[in-house]
Amino acid sequence: MPIKLEELGYDSFFESNRKALGLDNYSMSRVIAEYRGAYRVKNAAGEYLAEVTGKQMFDAQSREDYPAVGDWVATTELDPERAVINRVLPRKTLLKRKYSGRSEAQVIASNIDVAFIIESVDRDYNLNRFERYLAIANDGDIKPVLVLNKIDLISEPELDSKASHTKKRFANIDVILTSAIHSDGLDDLAAHILKGKTYCLLGSSGVGKSSIINRLLERDVIKTDAISHHTGKGKHTTTAREMYFLENGGILIDNPGMREIGMTDSDTGIEDVFDDIAALSGDCRFRDCTHTHEPGCVVREAIERGELDEERFNNYVRLQKETEYYEMTELEKRTKDRQQGRFIKNWKKQQKKGDY
Ligand code: GDP
Ligand code: ZN
Repeated sequence: MPIKLEELGYDSFFESNRKALGLDNYSMSRVIAEYRGAYRVKNAAGEYLAEVTGKQMFDAQSREDYPAVGDWVATTELDPERAVINRVLPRKTLLKRKYSGRSEAQVIASNIDVAFIIESVDRDYNLNRFERYLAIANDGDIKPVLVLNKIDLISEPELDSKASHTKKRFANIDVILTSAIHSDGLDDLAAHILKGKTYCLLGSSGVGKSSIINRLLERDVIKTDAISHHTGKGKHTTTAREMYFLENGGILIDNPGMREIGMTDSDTGIEDVFDDIAALSGDCRFRDCTHTHEPGCVVREAIERGELDEERFNNYVRLQKETEYYEMTELEKRTKDRQQGRFIKNWKKQQKKGDY
Protein backbone atom coordinates (compact mmCIF):
# COMPACT_ATOMS: atom_id res chain seq x y z
CA MET A 1 0.00 0.00 0.00
CA PRO A 2 1.58 3.29 -1.01
CA ILE A 3 1.93 5.78 1.82
CA LYS A 4 0.43 9.22 1.71
CA LEU A 5 2.61 12.31 1.91
CA GLU A 6 0.64 13.43 4.97
CA GLU A 7 2.05 10.44 6.82
CA LEU A 8 5.50 11.92 6.18
CA GLY A 9 4.43 15.30 7.52
CA TYR A 10 3.32 17.02 4.33
CA ASP A 11 0.68 19.69 4.87
CA SER A 12 -0.89 22.84 3.40
CA PHE A 13 2.19 24.91 4.25
CA PHE A 14 4.41 22.85 1.95
CA GLU A 15 1.69 22.40 -0.64
CA SER A 16 1.12 26.14 -1.01
CA ASN A 17 4.85 26.71 -1.37
CA ARG A 18 5.09 23.94 -3.94
CA LYS A 19 2.34 25.61 -5.95
CA ALA A 20 3.82 29.09 -5.57
CA LEU A 21 7.17 27.83 -6.85
CA GLY A 22 5.56 26.07 -9.80
CA LEU A 23 7.07 22.70 -8.92
CA ASP A 24 4.48 20.71 -10.84
CA ASN A 25 6.84 18.33 -12.58
CA TYR A 26 8.58 16.98 -9.49
CA SER A 27 7.85 14.52 -6.74
CA MET A 28 7.65 15.88 -3.22
CA SER A 29 10.01 13.90 -0.97
CA ARG A 30 11.18 14.24 2.60
CA VAL A 31 14.83 14.02 3.58
CA ILE A 32 15.07 11.25 6.19
CA ALA A 33 18.84 10.93 6.52
CA GLU A 34 21.97 12.78 5.52
CA TYR A 35 25.23 11.13 4.49
CA ARG A 36 28.47 12.60 3.34
CA GLY A 37 27.36 14.41 0.21
CA ALA A 38 24.17 12.40 -0.27
CA TYR A 39 20.72 12.10 1.25
CA ARG A 40 18.07 9.49 1.79
CA VAL A 41 14.67 10.76 0.73
CA LYS A 42 11.23 9.19 1.10
CA ASN A 43 8.08 9.86 -0.85
CA ALA A 44 4.79 8.26 -1.78
CA ALA A 45 6.54 5.76 -4.06
CA GLY A 46 9.50 4.67 -1.95
CA GLU A 47 12.94 5.55 -0.63
CA TYR A 48 15.85 6.83 -2.68
CA LEU A 49 19.48 7.73 -2.35
CA ALA A 50 19.60 11.29 -3.62
CA GLU A 51 22.07 13.98 -4.56
CA VAL A 52 21.55 17.66 -5.17
CA THR A 53 21.78 18.92 -8.74
CA GLY A 54 24.78 20.86 -9.94
CA LYS A 55 22.50 23.82 -10.49
CA GLN A 56 21.46 23.83 -6.88
CA MET A 57 25.06 23.60 -5.68
CA PHE A 58 25.87 26.53 -7.91
CA ASP A 59 23.01 28.58 -6.46
CA ALA A 60 23.79 27.72 -2.86
CA GLN A 61 24.89 30.80 -0.93
CA SER A 62 25.44 29.12 2.41
CA ARG A 63 25.16 25.85 4.22
CA GLU A 64 21.54 26.63 4.95
CA ASP A 65 20.69 26.35 1.26
CA TYR A 66 21.56 22.66 1.25
CA PRO A 67 19.03 20.03 2.22
CA ALA A 68 18.79 18.96 5.85
CA VAL A 69 17.03 16.08 7.54
CA GLY A 70 13.36 16.97 7.78
CA ASP A 71 13.33 19.07 4.61
CA TRP A 72 10.73 18.73 1.92
CA VAL A 73 12.46 18.64 -1.45
CA ALA A 74 11.42 18.56 -5.09
CA THR A 75 12.94 15.41 -6.62
CA THR A 76 13.29 13.59 -9.89
CA GLU A 77 13.58 9.80 -9.69
CA LEU A 78 16.31 8.30 -11.85
CA ASP A 79 15.54 4.66 -11.09
CA PRO A 80 13.87 2.75 -8.24
CA GLU A 81 16.79 3.53 -5.96
CA ARG A 82 18.23 6.85 -6.98
CA ALA A 83 16.90 10.37 -7.27
CA VAL A 84 18.04 13.93 -7.79
CA ILE A 85 17.10 16.78 -5.47
CA ASN A 86 16.18 19.78 -7.58
CA ARG A 87 15.06 22.18 -4.91
CA VAL A 88 14.56 22.59 -1.16
CA LEU A 89 11.12 23.87 -0.21
CA PRO A 90 10.84 26.77 2.23
CA ARG A 91 11.12 25.58 5.82
CA LYS A 92 8.61 25.89 8.59
CA THR A 93 11.22 25.66 11.35
CA LEU A 94 14.97 25.17 11.55
CA LEU A 95 17.12 23.63 14.25
CA LYS A 96 20.60 25.14 14.11
CA ARG A 97 23.76 25.05 16.08
CA LYS A 98 26.34 27.80 16.14
CA TYR A 99 30.01 27.02 16.20
CA SER A 100 32.65 29.09 17.83
CA GLY A 101 35.00 30.72 15.39
CA ARG A 102 32.66 30.32 12.45
CA SER A 103 30.04 32.70 11.25
CA GLU A 104 27.89 29.98 9.69
CA ALA A 105 25.56 27.91 11.79
CA GLN A 106 25.28 24.18 11.32
CA VAL A 107 21.84 23.12 10.22
CA ILE A 108 20.80 20.09 12.25
CA ALA A 109 17.27 19.43 11.06
CA SER A 110 14.25 21.24 9.72
CA ASN A 111 10.48 21.30 9.94
CA ILE A 112 10.33 20.11 13.54
CA ASP A 113 7.06 21.15 15.14
CA VAL A 114 7.84 20.37 18.77
CA ALA A 115 11.08 19.83 20.68
CA PHE A 116 10.93 17.83 23.89
CA ILE A 117 13.65 19.31 26.07
CA ILE A 118 14.77 16.69 28.55
CA GLU A 119 16.57 16.84 31.85
CA SER A 120 17.15 14.16 34.38
CA VAL A 121 15.83 15.11 37.83
CA ASP A 122 18.39 13.13 39.81
CA ARG A 123 21.58 15.12 39.34
CA ASP A 124 22.65 18.16 37.35
CA TYR A 125 19.04 19.26 37.36
CA ASN A 126 19.23 22.86 36.37
CA LEU A 127 16.67 25.39 35.22
CA ASN A 128 19.30 27.45 33.48
CA ARG A 129 20.05 24.53 31.20
CA PHE A 130 16.40 24.46 30.18
CA GLU A 131 16.77 28.13 29.39
CA ARG A 132 19.62 27.38 26.97
CA TYR A 133 17.70 24.75 25.08
CA LEU A 134 14.64 26.98 25.05
CA ALA A 135 16.73 29.64 23.37
CA ILE A 136 17.67 27.18 20.64
CA ALA A 137 14.09 26.07 20.11
CA ASN A 138 12.88 29.66 20.12
CA ASP A 139 15.50 30.67 17.63
CA GLY A 140 14.24 28.02 15.22
CA ASP A 141 10.52 28.71 15.83
CA ILE A 142 10.10 25.25 17.35
CA LYS A 143 7.54 24.82 20.12
CA PRO A 144 9.16 23.51 23.31
CA VAL A 145 7.83 21.01 25.86
CA LEU A 146 9.86 20.36 29.01
CA VAL A 147 10.40 16.79 30.21
CA LEU A 148 11.68 15.88 33.68
CA ASN A 149 12.91 12.31 33.36
CA LYS A 150 14.16 9.70 35.88
CA ILE A 151 11.50 10.65 38.41
CA ASP A 152 11.92 7.17 39.92
CA LEU A 153 15.28 8.25 41.32
CA ILE A 154 14.12 10.96 43.73
CA SER A 155 11.58 11.20 46.55
CA GLU A 156 8.09 12.51 46.02
CA PRO A 157 8.58 15.76 47.98
CA GLU A 158 11.79 16.41 46.09
CA LEU A 159 10.02 15.83 42.80
CA ASP A 160 7.12 18.09 43.82
CA SER A 161 9.52 20.87 44.63
CA LYS A 162 11.49 20.52 41.39
CA ALA A 163 8.34 20.28 39.31
CA SER A 164 6.77 23.36 40.89
CA HIS A 165 9.93 25.43 40.51
CA THR A 166 10.07 24.45 36.86
CA LYS A 167 6.41 25.25 36.24
CA LYS A 168 6.78 28.57 38.00
CA ARG A 169 9.80 29.63 35.98
CA PHE A 170 8.37 28.45 32.67
CA ALA A 171 4.73 29.28 33.20
CA ASN A 172 3.69 29.13 29.55
CA ILE A 173 5.38 25.85 28.68
CA ASP A 174 4.06 22.34 29.21
CA VAL A 175 6.01 20.28 31.74
CA ILE A 176 5.89 16.47 31.69
CA LEU A 177 7.24 14.12 34.37
CA THR A 178 8.52 10.76 33.18
CA SER A 179 10.41 7.66 34.11
CA ALA A 180 11.52 5.93 30.95
CA ILE A 181 12.53 2.75 32.73
CA HIS A 182 9.29 2.44 34.72
CA SER A 183 7.19 3.66 31.78
CA ASP A 184 5.73 6.39 33.99
CA GLY A 185 4.34 9.53 32.39
CA LEU A 186 5.02 8.23 28.90
CA ASP A 187 1.31 8.41 28.12
CA ASP A 188 1.44 12.12 28.95
CA LEU A 189 4.34 12.48 26.58
CA ALA A 190 2.66 10.42 23.86
CA ALA A 191 -0.45 12.59 24.22
CA HIS A 192 1.64 15.54 23.01
CA ILE A 193 2.54 13.66 19.84
CA LEU A 194 0.10 14.21 16.98
CA LYS A 195 -0.29 12.51 13.65
CA GLY A 196 1.75 14.02 10.85
CA LYS A 197 3.70 16.35 13.16
CA THR A 198 7.46 16.17 13.61
CA TYR A 199 9.29 16.00 16.93
CA CYS A 200 12.76 15.84 18.38
CA LEU A 201 14.34 15.28 21.78
CA LEU A 202 16.97 17.68 23.05
CA GLY A 203 19.03 17.34 26.19
CA SER A 204 22.43 16.48 27.56
CA SER A 205 23.95 13.08 27.14
CA GLY A 206 22.62 10.55 29.63
CA VAL A 207 19.29 12.17 30.45
CA GLY A 208 17.38 9.33 28.82
CA LYS A 209 16.63 10.43 25.26
CA SER A 210 17.32 7.04 23.70
CA SER A 211 15.35 5.27 26.42
CA ILE A 212 12.35 7.49 25.78
CA ILE A 213 12.56 7.03 22.02
CA ASN A 214 12.74 3.27 22.41
CA ARG A 215 9.66 3.39 24.64
CA LEU A 216 7.80 5.49 22.11
CA LEU A 217 8.75 3.10 19.32
CA GLU A 218 7.96 0.15 21.54
CA ARG A 219 11.16 -1.54 20.50
CA ASP A 220 14.86 -1.04 21.16
CA VAL A 221 15.94 0.76 18.06
CA ILE A 222 18.57 2.91 19.64
CA LYS A 223 21.25 1.47 21.83
CA THR A 224 21.31 2.98 25.29
CA ASP A 225 24.57 2.74 27.07
CA ALA A 226 25.60 4.47 30.24
CA ILE A 227 29.29 4.01 29.47
CA SER A 228 29.34 5.58 26.05
CA HIS A 229 28.27 8.89 27.53
CA HIS A 230 31.76 9.54 28.72
CA THR A 231 33.43 8.96 25.42
CA GLY A 232 30.59 10.40 23.41
CA LYS A 233 31.25 7.66 20.92
CA GLY A 234 29.61 4.43 19.98
CA LYS A 235 26.09 5.70 19.56
CA HIS A 236 24.49 5.82 16.15
CA THR A 237 27.26 3.84 14.60
CA THR A 238 24.97 0.94 13.84
CA THR A 239 21.99 2.85 12.54
CA ALA A 240 21.80 5.31 9.70
CA ARG A 241 18.18 6.14 10.49
CA GLU A 242 17.51 9.69 11.46
CA MET A 243 13.73 9.76 11.16
CA TYR A 244 11.30 7.44 12.89
CA PHE A 245 7.61 6.91 12.25
CA LEU A 246 5.59 6.22 15.35
CA GLU A 247 2.57 3.96 15.60
CA ASN A 248 0.25 6.92 16.24
CA GLY A 249 1.43 8.80 13.14
CA GLY A 250 3.93 11.09 14.84
CA ILE A 251 7.36 11.56 13.26
CA LEU A 252 10.56 11.72 15.27
CA ILE A 253 13.91 13.05 14.15
CA ASP A 254 17.02 11.97 16.03
CA ASN A 255 20.46 12.48 14.54
CA PRO A 256 24.03 12.87 15.76
CA GLY A 257 24.06 16.66 15.35
CA MET A 258 21.06 16.92 17.62
CA ARG A 259 22.94 15.08 20.32
CA GLU A 260 25.76 17.59 20.17
CA ILE A 261 23.57 20.63 20.38
CA GLY A 262 23.18 22.66 23.49
CA MET A 263 26.21 24.50 24.62
CA THR A 264 26.13 27.20 21.99
CA ASP A 265 23.20 29.23 20.90
CA SER A 266 22.37 32.41 19.15
CA ASP A 267 21.67 35.71 20.80
CA THR A 268 18.32 36.28 19.16
CA GLY A 269 17.02 33.11 20.75
CA ILE A 270 18.20 34.33 24.13
CA GLU A 271 16.47 37.67 23.63
CA ASP A 272 13.21 35.87 22.97
CA VAL A 273 13.34 33.72 26.08
CA PHE A 274 14.23 36.76 28.13
CA ASP A 275 12.04 39.14 26.20
CA ASP A 276 10.75 40.78 29.38
CA ILE A 277 14.32 41.67 30.37
CA ALA A 278 15.15 42.77 26.85
CA ALA A 279 12.06 45.00 26.83
CA LEU A 280 12.91 46.49 30.23
CA SER A 281 16.48 47.26 29.29
CA GLY A 282 15.29 49.43 26.42
CA ASP A 283 14.03 51.92 29.00
CA CYS A 284 17.32 52.43 30.84
CA ARG A 285 18.66 55.98 30.82
CA PHE A 286 21.82 55.03 28.95
CA ARG A 287 21.55 53.12 25.72
CA ASP A 288 24.61 51.02 26.49
CA CYS A 289 23.55 50.41 30.11
CA THR A 290 25.20 47.31 31.55
CA HIS A 291 22.53 47.09 34.28
CA THR A 292 25.17 46.91 36.98
CA HIS A 293 25.66 50.35 38.53
CA GLU A 294 24.31 53.00 36.13
CA PRO A 295 21.84 55.62 37.37
CA GLY A 296 18.39 55.40 35.80
CA CYS A 297 18.69 51.65 35.21
CA VAL A 298 15.17 50.22 35.09
CA VAL A 299 16.47 46.64 35.22
CA ARG A 300 18.15 47.20 38.62
CA GLU A 301 15.03 49.03 39.79
CA ALA A 302 12.84 46.08 38.80
CA ILE A 303 15.14 43.71 40.70
CA GLU A 304 15.04 45.93 43.77
CA ARG A 305 11.25 46.11 43.65
CA GLY A 306 11.21 42.31 43.45
CA GLU A 307 9.56 42.32 40.02
CA LEU A 308 12.49 40.67 38.30
CA ASP A 309 14.21 37.60 39.66
CA GLU A 310 17.88 38.42 40.24
CA GLU A 311 19.03 34.87 39.52
CA ARG A 312 17.20 34.88 36.23
CA PHE A 313 18.74 38.22 35.32
CA ASN A 314 22.23 36.93 36.15
CA ASN A 315 21.61 33.95 33.93
CA TYR A 316 20.61 36.26 31.11
CA VAL A 317 23.83 38.22 31.45
CA ARG A 318 25.92 35.06 31.61
CA LEU A 319 24.29 33.52 28.56
CA GLN A 320 24.80 36.72 26.63
CA LYS A 321 28.48 36.83 27.51
CA GLU A 322 28.90 33.20 26.51
CA THR A 323 27.15 33.79 23.23
CA GLU A 324 29.39 36.76 22.52
CA TYR A 325 32.39 34.56 23.22
CA TYR A 326 31.10 31.77 20.97
CA GLU A 327 30.49 34.23 18.23
CA MET A 328 33.99 35.68 18.39
CA THR A 329 36.36 34.35 15.80
CA GLU A 330 39.21 32.11 16.88
CA LEU A 331 41.62 35.01 16.43
CA GLU A 332 39.56 37.33 18.59
CA LYS A 333 39.39 34.62 21.24
CA ARG A 334 43.11 34.03 21.25
CA THR A 335 43.74 37.75 21.54
CA LYS A 336 41.30 38.05 24.40
CA ASP A 337 42.76 35.05 26.21
CA ARG A 338 46.26 36.39 25.66
CA GLN A 339 45.30 39.83 26.97
CA GLN A 340 43.83 38.21 30.01
CA GLY A 341 46.96 36.11 30.46
CA ARG A 342 49.15 39.17 30.19
CA PHE A 343 46.97 41.05 32.62
CA ILE A 344 47.27 38.30 35.20
CA LYS A 345 51.03 38.00 34.65
CA ASN A 346 51.49 41.74 35.11
CA TRP A 347 49.34 41.72 38.15
CA LYS A 348 51.39 38.94 39.70
CA LYS A 349 54.61 40.74 38.86
CA GLN A 350 53.37 43.97 40.39
CA GLN A 351 52.21 42.10 43.44
CA LYS A 352 55.70 40.75 43.93
CA LYS A 353 57.09 44.24 43.63
CA GLY A 354 54.65 45.31 46.31
CA ASP A 355 52.72 47.76 44.13
CA TYR A 356 49.39 46.32 45.28
P1 GDP B 1 20.63 9.56 26.29
O1 GDP B 1 22.12 9.75 26.27
O2 GDP B 1 19.93 10.85 26.60
O3 GDP B 1 20.09 8.90 25.06
O4 GDP B 1 20.31 8.61 27.56
P2 GDP B 1 19.99 7.04 27.59
O5 GDP B 1 18.61 6.78 27.12
O6 GDP B 1 21.11 6.31 26.90
O7 GDP B 1 20.01 6.79 29.16
C1 GDP B 1 21.17 6.92 29.95
C2 GDP B 1 21.08 6.00 31.14
O8 GDP B 1 20.01 6.41 31.99
C3 GDP B 1 20.80 4.56 30.77
O9 GDP B 1 21.54 3.74 31.62
C4 GDP B 1 19.31 4.41 31.00
O10 GDP B 1 18.93 3.09 31.35
C5 GDP B 1 19.09 5.33 32.19
N1 GDP B 1 17.74 5.88 32.23
C6 GDP B 1 17.03 6.44 31.23
N2 GDP B 1 15.83 6.83 31.65
C7 GDP B 1 15.73 6.50 32.97
C8 GDP B 1 14.72 6.65 33.98
O11 GDP B 1 13.62 7.17 33.76
N3 GDP B 1 15.03 6.21 35.23
C9 GDP B 1 16.23 5.64 35.52
N4 GDP B 1 16.44 5.24 36.77
N5 GDP B 1 17.20 5.48 34.60
C10 GDP B 1 16.96 5.90 33.33
ZN1 ZN C 1 20.13 49.21 32.82
